[in-house]
Amino acid sequence: MILPQPPLPVESGEGWTGNASIPQWNFFGPDKFDVFHLRALFYLVTPKEVANLTGPNHNLSYAEEAHHVQDVFSDTIPVFMVLCLIEAVVSFIVTGRLFPVSDTITSWSAGLLSHMTKICVKTLDVGLYTWLFTHYRLTIIPIDTWWAWAAALLATDFGYYWFHRASHEINLFWAAHQVHHSSEEFNFSVALRQSVVSNFGAWVFYLPMALLGFTPATFLIHHQLNLLYQFWIHTSLIKNLGPLEWILNTPSHHRAHHGRNPLYIDINYGGVLIIWDRLFGTFIPENEKEPALYGLVGRLESHNAVWVQVLRLAEIRRRIAANTSLGDKISAALKGPRWRPGLPFFGLLDRTIPIAKKEEHPERKYQSKVPRWQKIYATIHFLTVMPWFLAMLRGYENHEPYSTSETLLTFVHMTISLANIGSVFDGRSWIPLTETARCAFLFLFFNFLPGLEDEYEYMRSIMRTVLLLSVFLWPVRHYLTTTSAHAATPANGPSVVTKVEKSK
Ligand SMILES: [Zn+2]
Ligand SMILES: [Zn+2]
Repeated sequence: MILPQPPLPVESGEGWTGNASIPQWNFFGPDKFDVFHLRALFYLVTPKEVANLTGPNHNLSYAEEAHHVQDVFSDTIPVFMVLCLIEAVVSFIVTGRLFPVSDTITSWSAGLLSHMTKICVKTLDVGLYTWLFTHYRLTIIPIDTWWAWAAALLATDFGYYWFHRASHEINLFWAAHQVHHSSEEFNFSVALRQSVVSNFGAWVFYLPMALLGFTPATFLIHHQLNLLYQFWIHTSLIKNLGPLEWILNTPSHHRAHHGRNPLYIDINYGGVLIIWDRLFGTFIPENEKEPALYGLVGRLESHNAVWVQVLRLAEIRRRIAANTSLGDKISAALKGPRWRPGLPFFGLLDRTIPIAKKEEHPERKYQSKVPRWQKIYATIHFLTVMPWFLAMLRGYENHEPYSTSETLLTFVHMTISLANIGSVFDGRSWIPLTETARCAFLFLFFNFLPGLEDEYEYMRSIMRTVLLLSVFLWPVRHYLTTTSAHAATPANGPSVVTKVEKSK
């Protein structure tokens, strides 16, 4: 288990020595809402600013410098929240439709779990990159000049293009990446819907940068800027950006990328630039006559945060078991998601078939069928889970990382909570039982769970109250439902079940 690693302590250098001089990380601090974090979303960061993100001490080894790189992505999470809210309001004004809260919370749940994992495996990424850079680099490319800035942008985006392409065209990689494509909506929150396991493999595609001579810090910063750029392209509100569509990846190109229409399958892989797709023949522009319908080809129909992460792995397992020869078993995992025995590597795809011919009701989205109170309940509980995530993030940013047991405990209780909350939206029959058990456990062991010991007194009281009320909510509701059902049944009349069936 690799634990969250804070920046290493430094022996000398202003601003980094002594706890007194280290500013305490504040999730909603005013420093998060400055112009820099907005510009960073569009890659509008100068080479000098890139260099400043490595910290003020310039007498460090490359490995130490990498550990000091500012976590701009974490710092931008509050900005993401505000922008998601603004987009939801603007979208409601423009279209008259609200984004389903169930889909938004599923996206954020995947984002929380993925980001927690990313914090933990960060050291692995940088460690191997740094080893390669230290022993086999051709030269050393500076971090703070414009030509090096442009070269780093190109190199990072080139690495991302191939990582993203592999994520679509190799079944095992798709098992991870499909999480991002599983939403049937297309908004800023979808940008945060990420796989937990993709954090373990992406770095391989950037290793050529280490050989070329981009320092580990340069890679880490440009990788963050590359991912940050991809946030704002997840929106339906921005239609066309004119000449920029030739060079940049835009909302229009990315809408096409997220389409499950045969026309749009496996295209537009670029992160910041669309030039790679134009170069390598994977570019298809958005077609107004065939609007993209978002989501997976085999519809997901679940808001369970764990099921969203593993459903494709379960499918691969099923396919491996279904094939008899060893070669076909390996192919089922390592060839394209559409591959079947006897077919070419990537399987078959006819782009000329409109989606209306492929699916019976392509426009119909998966909707929660549960009553409104249940949606409010799930939303409140999602908000009560957030502080555990923020506490873990704060620990990392404040150089007080969790121990192994604290990390494991946080992962386990947050994963169970987010999976359960998603299933409340799905109205699963077992939810009354598991929710009662989950809330009872969290209430009873509240003080033993790491993260919220010292601060958030006000928040702790609210969280405990919500949990305690929820422990009684489900049994009481069950009792009342059963009682009213009995009361509604005439002594010798038809059963309630028969009445409900007739009313359908
Ligand atoms: Zn993709
Ligand atoms: Zn996307």
